[in-house]
Amino acid sequence: MFRDKVSSYTKAAVIFLGAVCLLAALATLSLDVFKWKFFLILAFAVTIAPRMSLTLPRSKFAISFSDALVFLTLLLYGGQAAVIVSLFETTANCIFLRSRGFRFGRLMIPTNISLNIVATTITYFLWTLIQNSLLGPTDITRTQHLITALGILALIQFLGSSLLAAAFQSLKDGSNPWETWKRDCFTSSMTQIVGAGIAGLVYKLINFGDIVTAAIASIALAIAFVNYRQSIAEINRAIENVEEAERQKAEAERGRRREAEKYAQELASSLEKEARANDALRRSEKDLQFAALHDSLTGLANRKKLNEILHGLIQNYKDDPSTNFQVLFLDIRSFKNINDTLGHTIGDKVLSIAAKRFTRIVNPEDTVARIGGDEFAIILRNLATAGKAQKVARKIHRSITQPFSLSGNKISIDVNIGIAPCDAEYETPEEILRDADIAMHYAKERNDGPAVFTKELRHRFLERVRFEMDLRHAIERNEFAMSYQPIVSLSDGRLVGFEALLRWNHSELGLIPPSKFIPIAESSDLIQPITVWILQETTRQIAEWQQISPDYRNLVVSVNISGKHLSNDNLVDEVEAALDASGIDPATLKLEITESSAMENAERTINLLKRLKAIGVRLSIDDFGTGYSSLSYLHRLPFDTLKIDRSFVKNVGEHGENSGILQTIISLAKNLKMRVVAEGIETEAQLAVLQNLGCDYGQGYLLAKPKGRDETERRLYQHPIWLPSDRVTEIRSIGREHVVEDLPVF
Ligand code: C2E
Ligand code: MG
Ligand code: MG
Repeated sequence: MFRDKVSSYTKAAVIFLGAVCLLAALATLSLDVFKWKFFLILAFAVTIAPRMSLTLPRSKFAISFSDALVFLTLLLYGGQAAVIVSLFETTANCIFLRSRGFRFGRLMIPTNISLNIVATTITYFLWTLIQNSLLGPTDITRTQHLITALGILALIQFLGSSLLAAAFQSLKDGSNPWETWKRDCFTSSMTQIVGAGIAGLVYKLINFGDIVTAAIASIALAIAFVNYRQSIAEINRAIENVEEAERQKAEAERGRRREAEKYAQELASSLEKEARANDALRRSEKDLQFAALHDSLTGLANRKKLNEILHGLIQNYKDDPSTNFQVLFLDIRSFKNINDTLGHTIGDKVLSIAAKRFTRIVNPEDTVARIGGDEFAIILRNLATAGKAQKVARKIHRSITQPFSLSGNKISIDVNIGIAPCDAEYETPEEILRDADIAMHYAKERNDGPAVFTKELRHRFLERVRFEMDLRHAIERNEFAMSYQPIVSLSDGRLVGFEALLRWNHSELGLIPPSKFIPIAESSDLIQPITVWILQETTRQIAEWQQISPDYRNLVVSVNISGKHLSNDNLVDEVEAALDASGIDPATLKLEITESSAMENAERTINLLKRLKAIGVRLSIDDFGTGYSSLSYLHRLPFDTLKIDRSFVKNVGEHGENSGILQTIISLAKNLKMRVVAEGIETEAQLAVLQNLGCDYGQGYLLAKPKGRDETERRLYQHPIWLPSDRVTEIRSIGREHVVEDLPVF
């Protein structure tokens, strides 16, 4: 911006100076000048001289043969005329160059013209000065003087024009003027020398007609000119070549730089990509490692991780018994029910909540792991005694049993917790986990909070495992048999049916009571095939017994159905198959379902019982009074009979004490339109109370103990009296006729 301004001012100053010089020249120009020779010079300057001009290497200044014309005019007609020639010649030269495509910058044509005018003026003045002060009067007609004059003129003109041009150029582009002069203007000295030569030659020719000298000089000058022109052209070509090579080199350099930058960028981006890929790899490696050792749902350690930790702890304990620890085995109670009724999504959330609660209670150095569907394990560290572990377990138990809401469902869960303290006898994580599991099963059975593992528990467990194995083969080994306990009408002593009770005659252990093996059958899923066998066996049996006497044609057999079996959809089909095979009236098969299992999943039970009712079998609610029935469900469950739990009967004293609850249950049953059976009648007093309260049927040792098939059959043929003699006669006389007319439904 600044340089532009300087350049513009310089041009303006040069143009102004040129104009002043031109005006001065015009003002002092003598009219004698205007002769045909002068016009000839002007015509030459305008037409031929421009075509003979040479462009100085690297410079935009065109130096023409105007010098020859200017010198000649100066010699012939003085400085003023030379200025006019200079004006015309430079103008013509610029116009010619422009017509050849040379592009002049703004004001460059007037600037060029002015520069030449000023240079010519300076030459004229200096020449006059030199003449007057140094040389004295010169006679240029003499060749010797003429050569001196031309030499001086050429020198002045050369210095004047070249220095002016260099100064102008440096003002324009800020280059060093001396360097510019040396590089671009020095070679133009030849122009002045040639110009001076031509001027001298023409001067001689015009003034003296010295043809020989002129011809020789012309030839010499022509050769010099041509040579000079060629060398200038060569220099220009060489410069152009060098410039072109430099341009190409610079272009190649730029290309290389661009390539290098591009390569560097690509390298940087591929390094970045590689770093990112490495990062991702490291992350996914970490994720994989985490996933391999953690449970995806809860984020807790998994069994593998737990085993790793336990392995280390067992080794440490062997080395240093002060590093003790305790292992808790936790199992969420009835988790299957949550999954079945509320769906797996809720089930998963319940597990996550349980995991959070476990983690919240224990210390950071402890480990909580999920080792199965609803099974968790916790390692408690640095707890010296199992008692302390039990305290933590109870705290966990209290926390886990707090109810919570999920998707509008109020949920409360419970856990069975078994504790195994560390012991030097453990060699592997599996051993200590197995013992914690054994303790957990014991806690589950006992249902009285966390249990600590003992050797005795292991013994029980092993017995149980053996039991389970033997149970699996009991049917095929023919070790099962049914016992039948009569159920009697308390109003008339009539036998209405039997409760079928399963007996297991173990080949080595002898008779095993149902209270010992039924829970094992239930927990090992053996209860279903066993029940199928019972249904087949009892219906076949009752069909036979119904044939013995017309009194027995409506004998009912009651079969106990385990709560575990209720969740199995096959039950209805299995019952139907038994009915079909035996051919009995479905109304003579009764299914007993305990109150607690009926209530455990009441909605599902209602549905199942309705399906069973639809095929015509009868239903009895067993052990009533122990299962905390919800009355709202009770009236929706389609039971025909209600069986009072024997604990209520047992409480009735010799004089009828504690019969209030029996009365309540009996009236409840009547209200719900159910028949009532009392079980566990052992004394006359109990019988009397029940009869007085209007209980329909009775079952108990007082009336008959459960007996095997043969014994039962023998008694059927005997037609015994089922009620104690004093109570029978009395009642028989009241009800017998009535009963025969309208057989009561049992
Ligand atoms: P439960 O269904 O309540 O059966 C009645 C139990 O009371 C029987 O015991 C019977 O022998 C006993 N009992 C009858 N009268 C008296 C009495 O006057 N006093 C006393 N103290 N007990 C009396 P059992 O046969 O040992 O059966 C026990 C339980 O085992 C049954 O209770 C039932 O829940 C279960 N069970 C027995 N057999 C089967 C079966 O075939 N299938 C299923 N799922 N469970 C069975
Ligand atoms: Mg029963
Ligand atoms: Mg019972």
